[in-house]
Amino acid sequence: QKKANGKYTVTFIEGDGIGPEVSKSVKQIFAAADAPIDWEPVDVTPIASDGPTAIPDEAIQSVRRNLVALKGPLATPVGEGHVSLNLTLRRTFNLFANVRPCRSLQGYKTPYDNVDTVLIRENTEGEYSGIEHIVVDGVVQCIKLITREASERVLRFAFQYAQSIRKPRVRVVHKATIMKMSDGLFLTTAQNVAKEFPDIEFDSELLDNACLKMVTDPTPYNDIVMVMPNLYGDILSDMCAGLIGGLGLTPSGNIGDECSIFEAVHGSAPDIAGKNLANPTALLLSSVMMLQHMGLNSHAERIHRAILQTIAEGKTLTGDLRGNAKTDEYTNAIIEKL
Ligand code: ATP
Ligand code: MG
Repeated sequence: QKKANGKYTVTFIEGDGIGPEVSKSVKQIFAAADAPIDWEPVDVTPIASDGPTAIPDEAIQSVRRNLVALKGPLATPVGEGHVSLNLTLRRTFNLFANVRPCRSLQGYKTPYDNVDTVLIRENTEGEYSGIEHIVVDGVVQCIKLITREASERVLRFAFQYAQSIRKPRVRVVHKATIMKMSDGLFLTTAQNVAKEFPDIEFDSELLDNACLKMVTDPTPYNDIVMVMPNLYGDILSDMCAGLIGGLGLTPSGNIGDECSIFEAVHGSAPDIAGKNLANPTALLLSSVMMLQHMGLNSHAERIHRAILQTIAEGKTLTGDLRGNAKTDEYTNAIIEKL
């Protein structure tokens, strides 16, 4: 909601590891671009409890109030009893679809220079349902949960998204030849939802085949919005990230019925944290997606162009892009372009 000062309040979860550094970059660039955003920083460090992972109430209220959040990476403690904070956030706000665009950037040479894929990952169930147990010693079972309701929701969103970005086709990526019932349900649900969208073409492809084809030649995928169950989306989107230059470049949006949280695909990168080496592009492009989602297209466009120009120029790039600029030098180069 627009405030009296003409700005919108957005919740900002800076996150762990390189989170604070890449967040600082976003804040500086938004300030320099006069983007009409007031950040509301919140801490999501879990409350110590014996029960399931709990996010502080203040953070939850902030996101519910503002409806939009930008989020840095959150480290997931390894070990028993810890549910991933990222998962907890997705469940708390029912963020059912994860949108992951991957577009080649001029100025950073990779084997293909015309990648322009969009992948939508089901975000609430599938292999990430968290239902795992020991049957007997030495035998464990993990349940992949697929429901028609969650499938329908993410599939319908995929068609609507294809319409909104003017892509002619939606493709389900699946493995229904093996997981006949679970992926089968996802696939048949897709075939039904497709009937609601006669203007969008629909087809399906097996996951292994999609991987093979994409790394052989990603061009045919540029006209397609791909949609798939949770784990496939996790893996295939990292593969797409690899096609364009890695995790430092790929944004994402977690979309729910009410709230949306935009975040980089990468993790907290503890190996380079605190060294002013991180590439803030992924979070920056996520913030551009956020502005577009909010209908602030001219501000989105302005910031997006400055990022693309800086990379295309190739003079001030971070280490992951074979450059030697520090995070803040790269940030300043973008600000100059504004
Ligand atoms: P987490 O457990 O939080 O996922 P991780 O150790 O898996 O952390 P990732 O963040 O997933 O680390 O990153 C994997 C590798 O990619 C790291 O070695 C990191 O250096 C690199 N990387 C990730 N994000 C960036 C970035 N924004 N800029 C530069 N390098 C990055
Ligand atoms: Mg990781």
